[in-house]
Parts: sequence; C-alpha cells; structure tokens
Amino acid sequence: MAQLQKPARLFFNGKIRPWEEGVLHISSEAVTRGLNVFEGLKGYWQEDEKNFGIVAMPRHFARLQRSARLLHIPCPVDYKQFERACHELILSLYRKDKDMWVRATLYVVEGHWGEGTVADLVLTAYQHEKEQPAPIDVGISTWQRSADVTLPPRIKTSSNYQVARLARIEGRDRGFSEMILLNQWGRVAEATGACVLIVRDNVVITPPAFEGRLESITVAIMADICASLGIRFVERPIDRTELYIADEICLVGTLAEIVPIRKIDHYVLPDHSPIINQLAKRFWSAVRGSQPHPGVDLSLIVP
Ligand code: PMP
Repeated sequence: MAQLQKPARLFFNGKIRPWEEGVLHISSEAVTRGLNVFEGLKGYWQEDEKNFGIVAMPRHFARLQRSARLLHIPCPVDYKQFERACHELILSLYRKDKDMWVRATLYVVEGHWGEGTVADLVLTAYQHEKEQPAPIDVGISTWQRSADVTLPPRIKTSSNYQVARLARIEGRDRGFSEMILLNQWGRVAEATGACVLIVRDNVVITPPAFEGRLESITVAIMADICASLGIRFVERPIDRTELYIADEICLVGTLAEIVPIRKIDHYVLPDHSPIINQLAKRFWSAVRGSQPHPGVDLSLIVP
C-alpha cells in the first residue's frame, strides 16, 4: 500500500521545523474550502554526485504565482526567498542515495471568502529512488477533466485533484496504475498527475492546454528536446481513438518524468518506442547534468 513518507522536517511559517509542527487550524480556508495552490519540484543528484540540481525552479515559482493570482491568494515570498527555503529544506534532509521531490504549497491560513486572505508557504520534501520509471498500463477514466469555466485545469490547486483521485481509485479497481482523463468534448486532456504525449508517423503530439491539461513544464522541456533532436513536435487536440492506434505513448511530468505506456484499456501498443527512448535518454542526461540542455535549467545546491 502506498504510504506517504513522514520526513523529519518541513518548512512551515517561515522556517525549518520538526514535521509534527506542520499543523493548520481547522477553521482556515485551507481546510474548510481546500484553498491552496502548489507545485511539485524534482531534484536530482548530478552525475558527479557532488551537486544536487532542482529542475526549472523559476518556472515552477512563476506557475505557483499564476495559480495564486487566479485564486486571489497573495504570494508571501519572492523568488529568492522561495529558492532559499527549498535549498535549506533539501540540505536538512538529503541522502546521497536518493533524489528528492519537493512539494511547495501556499495554504490560505487567514481570510474568509476572498477577504483578508493570508497564505503561508509550506515545503515538504520526500526521498525518491534514482531509478528511471518502468513502462505501465493505463486506462481511460469514466471521470472527466474539469473545464476552464468550472475548475480551470490551469490552476494547480488541490481541488483539481478530487477527480484525479476518483480516477485513480477507478483505475485500481480495473488494474491500472494511472488513468487518462478526457475533456468535455471527449478528447484527451491529461493523466491524473502527468501529461500525455503520443507519437504518430514520427511526430510527437500533445494536446494544447486549452484541451484541459496543466501548463506543464515537462511538456515544454520535451518540446525543446524534440527541437534539438530534429523531431517534429505538435500541439493539437487528440481523439480517444488516436490513443489506441498511436505508435508510441508516454506520460510526462515533473514527478512522472517520462513513463512509456505498454497498454491502454485493452489495446496493446507496439513493444518498441524508438522516439520516446530518444527523448528519455536526452532528458536523463540533462537532469543528471552529464549533457546539459538549454531547455533544462537546474538550480544547483552544493551539500
Ligand atoms: N498534469 C497534472 C494534473 C499534474 O499534476 C502534473 C504534475 N505537475 C502535470 C500535468 C505535469 O506538469 P509538470 O510537467 O509541470 O510537472
């Protein structure tokens, strides 16, 4: 059973504190309306094993600010303070044998229906295996991605993950570890915590954000990697049936990284993924620093 780690420390109310001190009042909007915005950042040990690099930190901070702006949540920190807090927490928890995933959340701790809103930056960091993800089987959920006029998928807020949770539970019942959600037009939106890339006739295709996916940083990274490898990359709507006849499919995201899909519903995909393998190879050499890529910026920490 998946259990969330309980690290020794977190960043809460302005400083690093013991894990047990990360407590919010039940009357806060963070609890009563689930009001928060968040980011997930990934940090990798560099090939030399001396430096630790967090991928695309300015872009994650910018998206956190955009989510906060859309929900009228004031951001209590600037980029420098955000970066310093992430570095401090990693330095207090790092292990040589593990990479790390940092969840940065702005929780609304004061305010009522948008008046007097005050947010606190909370950081939690978890250890991750250094392995690359293995291929998985996915299903297409009967649950639907919300729309821009209902709960905008562009906002990275916990409420946007209620349907994702339903889809994951549905997936577990059907024997799938991850699920793809369709949008209100029955076209591909995204997976529960990652975006979908398909390959058809040597072209890498992903739905645009207006089809109901997050404005993903990893999709932007993959587009840059495709450009440098001379692979065509196109953003356009994707029909459900295109998933079943695609040459290759993978999920991409900060936490998911790049996961090849073996089977989708009852359709088995071809067992070789030459283009996804090329993208994955280039992605891994960039995040580990063995072959830097201009599309993969790293905020380096020297423990
Ligand atoms: N969609 C959802 C719903 C996600 O939670 C994530 C992970 N942040 C993604 C897509 C991928 O976004 P990114 O590449 O910025 O991590």
